[in-house]
Amino acid sequence: MTNKGVLIIISGPSGSGKGTIVEKLKNNKNYALSISATTREPREYEKEGVHYFFKSKNDFKNMINNDELLEWAEFCGNFYGTPKEYVSKKINEGFNLVLEIDVQGAAKVKDIFTDAVTVFVIPPDKMELKKRLLGRGTEDENTINKRLKRACEEVELIPKYDYVVINDSIDNAVKDIESIVKVSKMCAKRYIHKINDFK
Ligand code: ADP
Ligand code: 5GP
Repeated sequence: MTNKGVLIIISGPSGSGKGTIVEKLKNNKNYALSISATTREPREYEKEGVHYFFKSKNDFKNMINNDELLEWAEFCGNFYGTPKEYVSKKINEGFNLVLEIDVQGAAKVKDIFTDAVTVFVIPPDKMELKKRLLGRGTEDENTINKRLKRACEEVELIPKYDYVVINDSIDNAVKDIESIVKVSKMCAKRYIHKINDFK
């Protein structure tokens, strides 16, 4: 058990900086990032198989029917899902596996992987969230408004999460997540097998 990696679920409002944090975590060799499937259109900078596996609605439905997804959810009109195989494989190999998924998906994964650590990322305030969404320039006004409305619903679920990270500075937010994982690795439940070593 001690050699297994930690499963870290990162959620938070669109624009809070999850993607930016996750990009930085890629520099840590002890971390692996799950790549989701989605029916959303790629953003200009996004690459197939790096940021997402971009699917048609039909292909996504086939993935569901073939039981290829650990979880899936609809978010603001598009479907998103976590491919199943990679998750257990990477944890068993000792990597800390990061899932950057919405609140619905987080609840489903936590039901299956009860030891998963859940982190909710928020910006310092709502104004900053809007500023970041506008600044990213990847969604039209209608989509930004949908995502801001959804953000108000998502923050209601903060009490369901293990930890909150306020992303005021990217470097600090990344360090906070690394600290959470470090502490989670010391969780007593992971060391039950050690009892026998002292008998
Ligand atoms: P999410 O993945 O949560 O939707 P992104 O990572 O795409 O959010 O970040 C949204 C925008 O905010 C991006 O333009 C990103 O560069 C910017 N951003 C992220 N973190 C910070 C931060 N700590 N300070 C200022 N801008 C940030
Ligand atoms: P975006 O379109 O901004 O990349 O993502 C929109 C939302 O979908 C974010 O909350 C993001 O965390 C979530 N998301 C991304 N991949 C998955 C996934 O595999 N499953 C679920 N449930 N949500 C996801």
